[in-house]
Amino acid sequence: MADEDNRWSEGNFVGGDVSLDFANTAAGRTDGVPLTDGIKTYADLVAWSRAAGLISKAEARRLGRLADSRPDEAVETLDRAIDLRETVFAVFSATAARRHPPEDAIAALNEALRNALPNLRLAHAGSGFAWTWRDDTDALDSMLWPIIRAAGTLLTECDPKRIRYCPGDDCGWLFVDSSRNGRRRWCDMRTCGNRTKAKRHYRKSRASG
Ligand SMILES: [Zn+2]
Repeated sequence: MADEDNRWSEGNFVGGDVSLDFANTAAGRTDGVPLTDGIKTYADLVAWSRAAGLISKAEARRLGRLADSRPDEAVETLDRAIDLRETVFAVFSATAARRHPPEDAIAALNEALRNALPNLRLAHAGSGFAWTWRDDTDALDSMLWPIIRAAGTLLTECDPKRIRYCPGDDCGWLFVDSSRNGRRRWCDMRTCGNRTKAKRHYRKSRASG
């Protein structure tokens, strides 16, 4: 998955859907402002997209070179990526809370779809065909297209009851609960769940001691 020089690891991809994994590049949001944010530059966006398997190593290098030659556009693309990420978060955190997603977030997602879907292509795959994305382009935002499509597919095809919001301290990661009993609570029990439980236990024992 991740390249050696890439700080993203498997623990960053527990959302069960690439659009939720993208939302999970930030955590601990308060009033829309994340406490931690893994995507602060266009290079961060490329590195994450590589780790997520959205682009090849060669594509990552090519996007890096294109961004160096078009720095203003790279910054604009980063801004749009962050807007998209927060739109995805707004839609699915509302879904997880059993609320209707905000209309402005749905409108923003529709606008993003309008830009992404014209780049969708059919390609030969084995003896049949598969959906793919045009690769004859110098667009800096090509890694956003599959994320946008995935968000739309998740919204239309996934049982909303299966969309979850992690209650961990400073977390708020989103994930698809595909467990058989439908009772997955944490983004990752081994890290987030245990950390939160340990903290609560520590606070309780301090309060009573
Ligand atoms: Zn969590």
